[in-house]
Amino acid sequence: MNTLKDDVPAFPKHQDLIKPLEWSEAVCRCYCRQCGILREINNTQAIKLQNIAGQKIIGDIKDFYFVVSYCDYCQENELKIEIKKI
Ligand SMILES: [Zn+2]
Repeated sequence: MNTLKDDVPAFPKHQDLIKPLEWSEAVCRCYCRQCGILREINNTQAIKLQNIAGQKIIGDIKDFYFVVSYCDYCQENELKIEIKKI
């Protein structure tokens, strides 16, 4: 079953990605491809996502964001994690 909704953009808006992080623990953002939520994540979460993706961010983590195939609020599907440069 394809759970990706057509009305959810594949990528978050650039203007949202370049906003300053608000959460004191936040190191970067994570975008859910299923529901379109862009949320801030901390270092522990960022390390976990890099481990699952099998990719390590080289450089300043603030220049990157994650795209995940589902989040806590979404129906689980095949887990896909992409690391993107802002
Ligand atoms: Zn979601």
